[in-house]
Amino acid sequence: MGDVITSAVQLACPHKAPIATVPAGKLTASSSPVLQAAEVQSGTLSCPADKPCLKVASVGGSSAKLTIGGSPAAISPLDAATNIGPVSTVPAAVKLKAS
Ligand SMILES: [Zn+2]
Repeated sequence: MGDVITSAVQLACPHKAPIATVPAGKLTASSSPVLQAAEVQSGTLSCPADKPCLKVASVGGSSAKLTIGGSPAAISPLDAATNIGPVSTVPAAVKLKAS
């Protein structure tokens, strides 16, 4: 399984505008909510570009095995894109550790 994408991971459009997500927060890793792939897809952004990104158009990174409330977790590599171009993730992911 890939590392998970949490709300601590900064998602940004190709123009470096942040993408805001509202995680349900049912699962946390390193004290931050793990995002569902659907939550990344429904993220909102206010892109300043002349031809702005309007929405997250696709999310390729979702877990087949780890689900949160029945919805696949977002994992690295996220491989997401807005209607203009690829979404960047900084840092790329967070290690999920169970104890
Ligand atoms: Zn943009």
